[in-house]
Amino acid sequence: MNYVGRFAPSPTGPLHAGSLVAALASWLDARAHGGQWLVRIEDVDTPRCIPGVDQIIVAQLQDCGLHADAAPLWQSQRSARYQQALERLIAQGLAYPCRCSRRDIEREMIRRGQPLARNTELIYPGTCRATSTQHDDSAETASAWRLRTDLNPALIHWHDRRLGPQQQDVADAVGDFVLKRADGCFSYQLAVVVDDAAQGISDVVRGQDLADNTARQILLQRALGLATPRYLHTPLLLGANGEKLSKQNGAQAIDTADPLAALNSAAAVLGLPAQSSGVPEALQAWVVAWASLQSTA
Ligand code: GLU
Repeated sequence: MNYVGRFAPSPTGPLHAGSLVAALASWLDARAHGGQWLVRIEDVDTPRCIPGVDQIIVAQLQDCGLHADAAPLWQSQRSARYQQALERLIAQGLAYPCRCSRRDIEREMIRRGQPLARNTELIYPGTCRATSTQHDDSAETASAWRLRTDLNPALIHWHDRRLGPQQQDVADAVGDFVLKRADGCFSYQLAVVVDDAAQGISDVVRGQDLADNTARQILLQRALGLATPRYLHTPLLLGANGEKLSKQNGAQAIDTADPLAALNSAAAVLGLPAQSSGVPEALQAWVVAWASLQSTA
C-alpha cells in the first residue's frame, strides 16, 4: 500500500497541546505504515493567519522530532489550482455565485419558518440557486461561490477508522456550502480536497472536531472526480472547562524547551504509554505501540 499522510495546520497560532495530538497521531500513523508524512500550511483564510506563525509551527514540529518527508506546501501559493477546481464545478453547473449576507440568510430562514440556532453555522437556504444560470461577469468578481447540494445524492456514508460508520446528509445539515468567499479567499473545504488529492494523501488523520467536515469533503471529491482517502479522527484534548482546547480559547503554545513532556501529554490523549527516554526513542516506542493499537482496533 502506498501510504501518504499529512498534518495540515492553519497558521492562526503556534502549535498547542491540542494540535500536537493531531500532529503526533498523523506522524505515528504514517510511520507505523512505513509511509510518507507531509506538512501543509493551510493559510487560505488570509485574514485569520498570523505572519511568521507558519515558520514557528515548522520549527516546533522539528523540535518534537516530527520530521516531514518533503518541504511543506503553502496553500496561499495554490490559488490557481483552487480556481481551476472551482471553474470545473461551475462548468458542470454545480457551483453558483451568491451575494447573500449572513443577515439575508437569517431573514430567509425566518421567512421559511426555520429555527435560527445561536452561534451555529447557518444552513444555507439556496436563495441564489434559482438565479444561478444567468450570472454575469460582475457577479463572478464580487460574489461568494457555493456548491449545489441538491443535484446529486447528498447523503454521504463514510467509515472512520476510529469512530466507525458515519453519515451526514449535506443538503440537510449544511446546505449549499461556500467554495470561495466574496473576499476572494477559497474555502477550507475546497482547498483541502484539492490538496489532499494533489498530494496523493491516502490517510487523513486529524482531530475529531473536524469529523463533521468529512461528508462535505467527500461530496466535493465526488463532484471533482477525486479519490476519497481513509479518515481517522483522533480524540481531542479538553481544557479545564471541558471544551476542546483551541487557539480561540487561549491554548498556550507547546513548550519546546521540553519536547518530551509535550509529546507525553499528546501521547496520553492517544492512549499511548508515557516514555522517559529521549525524544527519538520515545517516538520509536510509540510507533510500535500505535501499530499494535491499530491492529487490534
Ligand atoms: N487546517 C485545519 C486546522 O488547522 C486542519 C485541516 C485538516 O486536517 O483537514 O484545523
